[in-house]
Amino acid sequence: MAIQTKNPSNNQVIKTFAETTPDAVEAAVASAEQAFVLWRKTDYATRANLLHMVAMMMRERKEELATIITLEMGKLIAESRGEIDLSADIFDYYAINGENFLDDKVLEPKVGEAFIRHSPIGVLLGVEPWNFPFYQVARFAAPNIMIGNVVMVKHASNVPQCAIAIEQIFKTAGAQEGVYTNLLISGARASELAADERIKGVSLTGSEAAGSSIAAVAGKYLKKSVLELGGNDAFIVLEDADVDQAVDWAIVGRMNNTGQCCVAAKRIIVVEAVADEFLTKFKHKIADLKVGDPMDAETQLGPLSSEEAAVNLADQVARSVKAGATVILGGSRINFPGAFMEATILTDLKPGMAAYDEELFGPVASFYRVKDEQAAIVLANDSPFGLGGSVFTNDIERGKRVADQIDTGMVFINHPTWTTPDLPFGGTKRSGYGRELSSLGIDEFVNKKLIRVSALTDVF
Ligand code: NAP
Repeated sequence: MAIQTKNPSNNQVIKTFAETTPDAVEAAVASAEQAFVLWRKTDYATRANLLHMVAMMMRERKEELATIITLEMGKLIAESRGEIDLSADIFDYYAINGENFLDDKVLEPKVGEAFIRHSPIGVLLGVEPWNFPFYQVARFAAPNIMIGNVVMVKHASNVPQCAIAIEQIFKTAGAQEGVYTNLLISGARASELAADERIKGVSLTGSEAAGSSIAAVAGKYLKKSVLELGGNDAFIVLEDADVDQAVDWAIVGRMNNTGQCCVAAKRIIVVEAVADEFLTKFKHKIADLKVGDPMDAETQLGPLSSEEAAVNLADQVARSVKAGATVILGGSRINFPGAFMEATILTDLKPGMAAYDEELFGPVASFYRVKDEQAAIVLANDSPFGLGGSVFTNDIERGKRVADQIDTGMVFINHPTWTTPDLPFGGTKRSGYGRELSSLGIDEFVNKKLIRVSALTDVF
């Protein structure tokens, strides 16, 4: 894949970038390894200052950075601004809380003293996706730099300007060389690099194929990995839910970021008693979304991230329809010059259809009508993925009971799956393993070292 900025609103190539050469990658890894020797010895206040500075610079340059996001991957400009705010909040969050999270954990052995000390492990490689080009990097870089690790980032090939901007911000914020390094390389080269013995851990957010590739290398070379992969989240609406609010949240949950969120509400599962009412309202509101230029503040549905993504999504819809799915709304490409796809609702979906088995990464909602709560839970769990999900009900205790039976890493009651710096994020099953954000996100690439103190005569 060429490394280039291609505006998905009109499919014009804006700029092409040369890959980082093998020699330059070698020099960068050597520099990162050297940087680690010094960075691990810095105190938490020094690291926190750097992260606060990065956060401040992101906020200062919000308009410019948001514009690059929208230019490169087509996100609505207001959502791009929100992403910069959220990313800055993540840097501040770890600057403020990191030291506390990493404090010694005192144990209570029967004899003597013991505690766990958290130490950094070294140079990490992060492979990141385009769908939230600043936020995804923040989730990986902020906690790890606070621990004292140093990071190398291979970003998605369609967001090179975002990737370069983040590295520049670190430099301007005062990061010593090697603490944060951007690599313009292909996915295949990232997997090769993961084998380098100077890289001590790898984190990938993206597709199952890419995750499997990098985790295979990590496994072979015995290093820690974290994978944040795809999802097919269920959005369950029970008969006692506030239907109007559930409809509004379903639209946000499914259409946010033009439907390209790992935790988007991809499967809308509504119990029979309120299914007709929900579907009528959902369809009307989705049909009203204003499609257009993502730079225009009036636009509510922009293009997908690339022409390839739009072609792939339209093909998944076409294959599902051929296999017997019904199109309730949309279903086709929009006749604009860019990577546009109609907001779509599909129903009558069954196992074996693309829309049932695969992740649909765009503005296509799969609508399921089920008999009752139990049927909703069974359907929600009938997926190889296990990322997020939501349950809408006026009875919070019932919501918690349902949440308990859904086999995913996150379940939200009366809200689509969402993210804030202080809540852990991650999945189970084929959605990956490990967690980012919150206190859990700072706990992945760290040596939890036991230090044990006993008298020479102690026996235990
Ligand atoms: P992708 O193709 O897997 O790309 C993600 C990253 O992996 C890119 O940097 C890509 O580089 C790289 N890559 C591709 N092949 C690789 C390989 N063999 N070895 C190492 N790296 C490789 O993912 P996508 O389809 O663009 O992104 C969307 C996917 O990410 C969806 O499935 C979505 O659900 C998932 N996602 C998950 C989370 C989460 O937190 N669970 C969050 C966001 C997105 P190139 O761009 O150069 O190919």
